[in-house]
Amino acid sequence: GPAPEADQPVREWLARHGEGFGHFIGGAWRAPAAGTFFDVIAPATGETLARVAQGDAADVEAAVAAARAAQPAWHALGGPGRARHLYALARMVQRHSRLFAVLEALDNGKPIRETRDIDVPLVARHFLHHAGWAQLQESEFSEWAPLGVIGQIVPWNFPLLMLAWKIAPAIALGNCVVLKPAEYTPLTALLFAELAQRAGLPDGVLNILTGDGRTGAALVDHRGVDKIAFTGSTEVGRQIRAATAGSGKSLTLELGGKSPFIVFDDADLDSAVEGVVDAIWFNQGQVCCAGSRLLVQEGVEAQFIEKLKRRMATLRVGHSLDKGIDMAAIVDPVQLARIESLVETGRAEGCTIWQPREVALPERGSFYPPTLVTDVAPASTLAQEEIFGPVLAAMSFRTPEEAVALANNTRYGLAASIWSETIGRALDIAPRLACGVVWVNATNLFDAAVGFGGYRESGYGREGGREGVYEYLKPQAWSKLPLRTPR
Ligand code: NAD
Repeated sequence: GPAPEADQPVREWLARHGEGFGHFIGGAWRAPAAGTFFDVIAPATGETLARVAQGDAADVEAAVAAARAAQPAWHALGGPGRARHLYALARMVQRHSRLFAVLEALDNGKPIRETRDIDVPLVARHFLHHAGWAQLQESEFSEWAPLGVIGQIVPWNFPLLMLAWKIAPAIALGNCVVLKPAEYTPLTALLFAELAQRAGLPDGVLNILTGDGRTGAALVDHRGVDKIAFTGSTEVGRQIRAATAGSGKSLTLELGGKSPFIVFDDADLDSAVEGVVDAIWFNQGQVCCAGSRLLVQEGVEAQFIEKLKRRMATLRVGHSLDKGIDMAAIVDPVQLARIESLVETGRAEGCTIWQPREVALPERGSFYPPTLVTDVAPASTLAQEEIFGPVLAAMSFRTPEEAVALANNTRYGLAASIWSETIGRALDIAPRLACGVVWVNATNLFDAAVGFGGYRESGYGREGGREGVYEYLKPQAWSKLPLRTPR
């Protein structure tokens, strides 16, 4: 097979921080107040990559103070001034794309092909897009003001991309940020902060605070934070909503999903099979909008499942830095155990579990094979619960009405994918799906110019596009003329 991607530059960067990473606050590394660190593990091998700081309320205090101190000058710089910094950040990501791609693959366990071709280019694109909004701020949003200091909490499945989705709009529009990466995957955020500072981003505009859920909760509770932007599980989203209620803080939530992948009998079945591969085995299925429910029209069900099984048998599972693989590691043994236990629940509820015999798993590290589940009752666990792993639950429908009802039969509402060669049918179905994003004969397409987000228990608020810009502004009415008292 192809040679694994070289990881020497990443190793050198990690070695420079061998004593342990502090938080990145006010443009400098800062040891955690309580002196506590934890290990970051590479899921594909189990090796320890680094030690990072466990943040507490004192660290949150320091980070929020740094952001607060930096914000007036950052706002006063004006849109065009900030745009220059966002362009510089995009160029910085492009220049160091290999370093970011390798570090992300090691830290998360996902394939290097994905970080190299998807995560990192989308990160650069997000900064370029939002540089454009910054330039337009005075003309397009003259009666809107930045919110101030934003607390941002991101998950581990797209660590750097979620950082970009969070910080690009926030800082473009004159806010300053305290961001907490997920405890499994804090390393690309720390690399980003270090390189951003070298690229001239003023101190305190971006502060990175590492730690687990307790650190996140301390950030949510801090009174100096004007808004919390959270991406993660629906359960934690609910806790954050309760914790911020009545606080005056703005809140956006990007949460879980159980997105339907709907195949009509007139679909191009071979393309739809490739769509499924992308929908549920991309990033090992650890994708909020993963097409985790396959809904197939009855007439083509047997044929489609047969084609899908043949394709599944050709998927290659291996180490993150191997360029010839389709799937790599699950982020953590705890997550792996959760997937295994959900699949066992499905088996106990009467589902049929199928995994291709041909797919071999590496012996060390956290791996799970591509899995197809059939005989799934619509109300059962595997039809309703987000698995967040490479497990596809297949069901069938007869009519378009049944497809819509089945697709909407979940508490979530993030995304959906429709496959049909009759475009009129697809466009008739699309608006009847209760979700924030619908793809037709495609899946997992993202663009910085299009607002992404959910309905129902998938959260609220949008990231990207004009809708995403408004999430970081507040309306501010002001009189353009001297006020006169009418006589
Ligand atoms: P998670 O909710 O466990 O953790 C997300 C982040 O929240 C982490 O940084 C974590 O440390 C922090 N956190 C945990 N408890 C907290 C608390 N009480 N207060 C504040 N912060 C806390 O989610 P996860 O397991 O990291 O990510 C997987 C979930 O994220 C899935 O449900 C997935 O669907 C969702 N997700 C959604 C989107 C989206 O855009 N809708 C994108 C990616 C992932």
